[in-house]
Amino acid sequence: MCGKVTKVKVFWPRGPVCDSCYRAALSTPAPCATCSRHRILIGQTAEGTLLCKTCSFPDEPVERCSACGEPADLYSGHRCPCCTLAARVTDLLSVNGTSVAQPLQPLAVVLTSAENPYRVLQWLRRSPAARLLGRLVLDPGALNHESLDTLPQRAATAYVRGLLVTAGILPPRDENLALLTNWVARTVAELPARHANLIRPFAEWHIIRDARRRSARGRYTYAAHKGNCGNVLAAIDFLNWLDSQHLSLRRLQQPHLDVWATDRPTLRSRSIPFLRWSTARRLCPPGLSIEHPASQLPGHFQAEDEARNELLRCFNDTALPLDVRVAAALVRLYALPLTRIVELTEDHISRDQEHTYLAVNQHPFVLPPKLARLIDDQLRHSTPRHSTTAGRRYLLPGQSPGRPRNPLGLADTLRQHGLPARAARNTAMVDALADLPPMVIADLLGIHPKTAERWATLAGENWSEYLSSLT
Ligand SMILES: [Zn+2]
Ligand SMILES: [Zn+2]
Ligand SMILES: [Zn+2]
Repeated sequence: MCGKVTKVKVFWPRGPVCDSCYRAALSTPAPCATCSRHRILIGQTAEGTLLCKTCSFPDEPVERCSACGEPADLYSGHRCPCCTLAARVTDLLSVNGTSVAQPLQPLAVVLTSAENPYRVLQWLRRSPAARLLGRLVLDPGALNHESLDTLPQRAATAYVRGLLVTAGILPPRDENLALLTNWVARTVAELPARHANLIRPFAEWHIIRDARRRSARGRYTYAAHKGNCGNVLAAIDFLNWLDSQHLSLRRLQQPHLDVWATDRPTLRSRSIPFLRWSTARRLCPPGLSIEHPASQLPGHFQAEDEARNELLRCFNDTALPLDVRVAAALVRLYALPLTRIVELTEDHISRDQEHTYLAVNQHPFVLPPKLARLIDDQLRHSTPRHSTTAGRRYLLPGQSPGRPRNPLGLADTLRQHGLPARAARNTAMVDALADLPPMVIADLLGIHPKTAERWATLAGENWSEYLSSLT
């Protein structure tokens, strides 16, 4: 079918089929041209439309499912894929192998109502998440966020959590916030008591409380969680450094802090929240400060041609994966950071007769028609394996159901395809600032007005000068 010269696996009425086409055909049933059932299409009419086995051999006896009686491609036990799936799901989710307990029934519905049962059957056979789920249902008391948090946080655990949320068995929660709280609990537990006594209240009452506030506004990103972990780590490092200098918070003086700031330039800004918190609680003498390092102008930009060519690649290069084209184009056109792009859902896209719009912070942007088509294709091709009842549909869905892609992984993928995000985003931001006042940009892109101002300076007088100094 693919036209390659290779070993033939089977001869179908459509023609000889190689191993990889055979596997692909088995896992992607499609409507038969004659009976319109979703079947494996092995034959074709004179006009080239594809047919199922029953319609390809009308004179032979019809193979029917032993459970539902429909003509079908039969699995072992003479059952059709749907009935096989129903049986396997019951087997997985029940203790006795015959009936699914009441609380788990929504999950059985999610697993069995998939558009393509073959993909879920494959998942049940191979996925570590399916095995984990099978173990968890034996102990229904363990089906909550807290006990899932005690398991090793592997992809399988995240997947099972996503499934349970999708099925409505677990309430949705902010996973970025949960990452932070779990990380803090694990990290503080390993500290010596004299450090834990300071770090725990700092982390819980300052860092986590602030994170909760941002999460309640729907603004707590993966990057923010990373930054917060960095603040706590810097605080721990600072206490270790004090120990090594035979100092304590109480005896801390400004010259000590200056040494710390030059000793650990990378931790310098990160340790500011802890110092402020300690000062406010009179744990150290008043009036101490660590200055933010002088902010530097961003050093990564693209030449105009390069930016244009990359955007054209996003629009026209069909060899690139769709999600890469969409993400890279959004970076280049709207200067959106990847942490925001992964949070985009179907709900951010709207259409009228003329245009497609993307809403960012409630501002709808008109999408260029090419990008609108890419986004439509991406939404169509990223149908989740399990039907989503509760979850949001992400533009760039992650491995786990109901979760977006990890922005760090996405950054890697973009780099691998020669469309890195950072320089492109900087360039797009400067382009936008040439036309719009910094305050509008700050609001539009959800960045700090100070940052926007810094960019504006760059876009104004300095920008061309700066660019020419680079070349
Ligand atoms: Zn082939
Ligand atoms: Zn048919
Ligand atoms: Zn059946």
